[in-house]
Amino acid sequence: MSRPDDTIAALATPAGTAALAILRITGSDTKAVVAAVAGVVPPARQARHLDYRGKDGALLDDVLLTFFEGPHSYTGEDAAEISCHGNPFIAQKILEDLLSRGCRPAGPGEFTQRAFLNGRIDLSQAEAVMDVIHARSERALAAAHQQLRGGLGRKMNPLVDDLLAALARIEVYIDFPDEDLPAEDTTLVLDHISRIALSINELLATSHYGSILRDGIRTVILGAPNAGKSSLLNRLVGSDRALVSAEPGTTRDFIEERLLVGPHLVRLVDTAGLNPSPAPLEKLGIDKTLERAAEADLFLLVVDASLPSPPVLMPELRSKFRPESALVVLNKSDLVGERTRRPALPDISQVWVSALTGVGIEELRSAIVGMADAFARDPTDLVTINGRHAHALGQARELLSAAEAKLTREEPVELVASDLRGVLEALGQITGRIDGERMLDQLFATFCIGK
Ligand code: GDP
Repeated sequence: MSRPDDTIAALATPAGTAALAILRITGSDTKAVVAAVAGVVPPARQARHLDYRGKDGALLDDVLLTFFEGPHSYTGEDAAEISCHGNPFIAQKILEDLLSRGCRPAGPGEFTQRAFLNGRIDLSQAEAVMDVIHARSERALAAAHQQLRGGLGRKMNPLVDDLLAALARIEVYIDFPDEDLPAEDTTLVLDHISRIALSINELLATSHYGSILRDGIRTVILGAPNAGKSSLLNRLVGSDRALVSAEPGTTRDFIEERLLVGPHLVRLVDTAGLNPSPAPLEKLGIDKTLERAAEADLFLLVVDASLPSPPVLMPELRSKFRPESALVVLNKSDLVGERTRRPALPDISQVWVSALTGVGIEELRSAIVGMADAFARDPTDLVTINGRHAHALGQARELLSAAEAKLTREEPVELVASDLRGVLEALGQITGRIDGERMLDQLFATFCIGK
């Protein structure tokens, strides 16, 4: 990949009125641009207060300018930040002035792209920048920070080392087609392969939690029509988002809200009521409910506790209710004198609430946190993968199995080597760089076995 170093500039804060706006510059002409604007190039990393004057000498704003000397900058090149008053008009004028002084408008993500191209961060860290910006819960933020600090890259290293070791064993024999891979080398390579496969599977298993961190724990609210599902969602979310109505079966479309429960982001989905004898339109909603339930992580079954009838649950839903991921919410407790109700579902915990008055909602939140905690991963190891990583790992796993099969069938070593190189490439997609030098070192280290 070529390494552009032309000088780019952009507004780094959202367009709009605020206390401050920040503009960023990076590239080979940064020093010259800074010198032109500030009169001198200030010492690196020291904010300098100055009057920003346009090329025509007109005062645009008083600003703070900080110069970062490459390679000790975000992008690895000379870079600068200008903080001005958060007036979009001022920010735009300064940006136009920077462009008139030879900067080019930066494209989306171009600063982080430079950081990657200049070797400051790997690709998984570049993605983590976005994860940090978009994190919506403590856990998601902790995970994003781990990734930003190279957590996934570090997990990939031993895997790549193993792969290189396996490749090195094999590559030696490629130049000598008459020689078969000795049995002990075959065993060794197979060992490497199974270790790599294990690590790949472990990483792939983090994919679901990764999506939970980004999108929230999928929690479906189920219950008979009028049990108070929408009211409960509103109460939990703290707004009147869902349509609350005294007429049964009104929530035919899904209402989804994200809310923070303790350190977790929860994606709450209100579903159509589970009416046992539904009208045709309702039937559609119920089918969709079942679809949603199939993807859910947690279940809240809302029961109208003022009615004597037990909750109606279709068998396909009941089978999904497990003590660690389901709760019975006995709603309308304000209408109930004595709480002598038998457990609705014997193995599932139940919480008394009133969506109307708010009584019991804190207990419900704690119970949800409890389930989410059990669901979540160890907070000290929050390395998870995203869809792109999963795709690459899936490819790697396939090629690895192919290599294993070929080795076992004693097919020519170059075919095995070609599969393993494919694995290396697939793994390389995750960090965006497999250190070619490291690979050569390992290869040459085995070359000198006297052949
Ligand atoms: P859904 O069909 O399950 O979504 O039920 P809704 O949330 O639309 O509520 C149905 C009716 O029950 C509405 O009239 C609500 O005001 C009422 N309701 C909901 N929760 C409570 C509660 O905790 N106490 C009382 N007394 N009424 C409630």
